[in-house]
Amino acid sequence: MTSESIAHPLHRPAVGAATARAANARAVVWMVVYLLFILAPLFALLGGAHPPARSFWTEFSIALGYAGLAMMGLQFGLTARFRYITEPWGEDVIYHFHRRLSLIAVGLVVAHPIILFLERPELVALLNSFQAPWRARFAALSTYSLIALVVMGLWRTKLRLSYESWHLTHIVLAVVAVTAGILHMVGWSFYFEDPWKRGLWVGLTIFWIALLGYVRIAKPLFILRKPYRVSEVRKERGNTWTLVMRPDGHAGFTFRPGQFGWLTVYGSPFKITAHPFSFSSSAAATDGRVEMSIRELGDFTNDIRKVPVGRRVYIDGPYGAFTTGNPADMHVLVAGGVGITPMMSMIRTLADECDKRPVILLYGSKTWESITFREELEALKARLDLTVIHVLENPPDGWTGERGFITAAVMQRHLPPSYADHEYFICGPDVMMDAIEGALEKLGVPISKYHSERYSFV
Ligand SMILES: Cc1cc2nc3c(=O)[nH]c(=O)nc-3n(C[C@H](O)[C@H](O)[C@H](O)COP(=O)(O)OP(=O)(O)OC[C@H]3O[C@@H](n4cnc5c(N)ncnc54)[C@H](O)[C@@H]3O)c2cc1C
Repeated sequence: MTSESIAHPLHRPAVGAATARAANARAVVWMVVYLLFILAPLFALLGGAHPPARSFWTEFSIALGYAGLAMMGLQFGLTARFRYITEPWGEDVIYHFHRRLSLIAVGLVVAHPIILFLERPELVALLNSFQAPWRARFAALSTYSLIALVVMGLWRTKLRLSYESWHLTHIVLAVVAVTAGILHMVGWSFYFEDPWKRGLWVGLTIFWIALLGYVRIAKPLFILRKPYRVSEVRKERGNTWTLVMRPDGHAGFTFRPGQFGWLTVYGSPFKITAHPFSFSSSAAATDGRVEMSIRELGDFTNDIRKVPVGRRVYIDGPYGAFTTGNPADMHVLVAGGVGITPMMSMIRTLADECDKRPVILLYGSKTWESITFREELEALKARLDLTVIHVLENPPDGWTGERGFITAAVMQRHLPPSYADHEYFICGPDVMMDAIEGALEKLGVPISKYHSERYSFV
């Protein structure tokens, strides 16, 4: 960091090695807390009074059922967007974790009846929900809901489900699955002779319900009290529109360049689905103003151009760990298409902070005409040490610059060779991100030196 950048009044303290170590420590603590939440209720069942022993496989299958249910309940916490918890990893990693853990939890829950049926074939009769007792009906309802959750999650696009209908169904099925699972467990009450064991599971259930209440009631109420007003809808190149939003009756929030927020334009924050967008404006703005630059890609984004100036909107944020601040000799920003938006925030912020370190932007676009922020990037070169390398998929006649896609060869042509010393930021289509991550690995850049933001959580 240069002395000029420290002296500048807008400069925020950089995230140093000590902060990174603190984030790692926090990540480990949350992992331990997570495991504790899953395993403690299970081990608690081993203490106190015991009902008559049953076969190993029966007990084993029941342990799997308990663990699966505890994992399912805790999923409400993983998707609750607790900033303090998600910060060490970033939201996309948390959602990835959520998907993987769901598969494990569903596997455990489904294994529970399968093992029981193999061990005690007479129990297969319980599958007849017309004659089975309620506790078995709840088990069936829970298991079928979980299977439906997985099928819809894995094959949403193939099933041609819109994101909004999938999201609503996902939440309803998850609540039904966990509630029916709890009712099934309480119905058998095999392990609940001791009041403290009952208390533990009742406490856990209240905790899960509280998580849901926080996400769907407390948090929307908080966001409702902090609305924003659209002050401008600006057309950009490349079918993209920038929404300029100002806090309405409050000071707004501060964010770090590269972070994103969840936007609700139509309806209130109680609406099930909000849309995530990176902030494209400078994080150094002092009036609370935020901008999001949105490409027309689907039903919600196609209508952004029609948002009237003065409309009240809601932003839940900031979120994300994709942000500058680590020690580095230079920033290398690799953007594909609309992946330019977080980079734009970084570049604008570095310019406002008079940061003197070099910034190289490798920017992939389809055509010369569709390059979002093309003119502003040129202008920003006067304010910071910025080099922009455009890589065009369909270049115009006479184009002498890079063509095709951003590859390891393109990077080697434009980056100074001490590759592992730079800090890399990558955002764009999944296929581009995979290619760039592979290219960085080839160039010997350690994983700790690059940051990726994927625009697909599901
Ligand atoms: C962290 C993050 C930052 C993003 N930043 C930007 C940005 O700065 N500019 C920009 O143009 N786009 C950005 N996106 C992508 C943007 O959120 C989607 O393009 C948009 O939500 C699509 O909505 P739609 O209804 O128009 O399209 P649809 O056709 O309904 O959806 C297209 C795809 O977008 C995803 N998607 C749709 N709705 C949501 C939602 N509510 N939550 C999560 N994913 C959804 C789904 O994978 C869906 O298949 C970002 C995405 C993420 C995850």
